[in-house]
This record gives sequence, C-alpha cells and structure tokens, in this order.
Amino acid sequence: MYICLEGIDGSGKSTQIELLEKWLKEMGHTVEKVVEPTSSPVGILIREMLQEPQATDSHFQKVLALLFAADRMLLMDKIQQEESQNKIIISDRCFYSSMVYQSPSSWINEINKYIRKPDLVLLLDIDVDTAVSRCQGQDQFEKKSFLKEVRSKYLEIAKKHDFFVINANTGINMVHKNIKKVVAPHLGI
Ligand code: C5P
Repeated sequence: MYICLEGIDGSGKSTQIELLEKWLKEMGHTVEKVVEPTSSPVGILIREMLQEPQATDSHFQKVLALLFAADRMLLMDKIQQEESQNKIIISDRCFYSSMVYQSPSSWINEINKYIRKPDLVLLLDIDVDTAVSRCQGQDQFEKKSFLKEVRSKYLEIAKKHDFFVINANTGINMVHKNIKKVVAPHLGI
C-alpha cells in the first residue's frame, strides 16, 4: 500500500509521518518511508535548485517540474519492489505536489503519465497564518501569499482526486487520531 501525505510547509507532515510510521509498526506492519525530492542524484539537484533566488520564476519552475517527474520515476522501482514485499510505503509528498507547485496541470499530468499514483492521499490542511508561524526559515516559499495560493490549489485538487482532508489546525495528537481513523479501514483494522 502506497500512502502519501501532502500539505503546505508548516502543516506538520514530517511529525505526522513519524507518528503514522510508529503506529503502523506497532500494528505489526513493515513500513518504508520515502520523501520527495528523494536522495537520488536528481533529488539532490532539485534541493540545490530550490535554494536558488530565481526558484519561483516560470521557466525555472518548468525545469523543476521535469526534474521532479524524473526523480519520481526513479522512485517507482523501489515502490514496486517494496509493495511486492507487502510493505506499507509512506510518502512525504508525491505527484500531487507537482500539481500544486508547478503548472500547467495538463502538462504536469503528461510528464507524470507513467507515475504510479498513491492508493491513499491525506491532505493536512492548515490555516496559512498558523503554518507561517510554524515555519522557521523565511525563504520565498514560506511567504504567506504563496502559501495561500498553494493551499487553495490543494483544496481544489483534493475534491477532484478524493483526498482525505485532515484538519491540521488542531493539536498533534488530534491530527494523528484523525489520520489513524482514515488509514485503519484501508488496512482492515
Ligand atoms: O517541506 P518540504 O521539504 O516538503 O518542502 C520542499 C519544498 O519543495 C516545498 O516547500 C516546495 O516549495 C518545493 N516543492 C516544489 N515542487 C514539488 C514539491 C516540492 O516546488 N513538486
């Protein structure tokens, strides 16, 4: 099973992924975590490029979209292999991040045509002010207007692609409880 957690910066994805992993392991499952960008050479290049001052420029974003698609493609074998061993894969971001961070969506779909979509997507939805207050750095991606835009794109695609939207404004334990509620039936718990 391939589960993905999506959300804007400061939505608490990393914390919730740790808690989800711990819970699934306690339930006897073997869990593998992945994160996009990955640690492949392409993923490393993406991380470097995200630090560039022109990272939000239109053409630069197109290059990033292509690199994200390539990085994701490199991840597919690993996911397939782990699934064949009955592992649960928890992914920090997936194809849908490209749908909200890069554009246009028809092109993003095209370049990700061969990418396996997750079985379950949980969107940690958080109020932008709360998210900003949680973000430590002050890079351009953490600017409020940018996060607002990304959040609304997430909510838009959430409807279309049947994401489970989790209210991430509540405390860590409540968010974890709600995530468990969504995941449990998919595992027959
Ligand atoms: O917080 P996290 O490490 O998940 O964020 C990575 C950053 O990479 C995001 O804040 C976002 O700005 C950027 N990103 C992107 N396109 C993607 C995925 C992430 O620009 N497809």
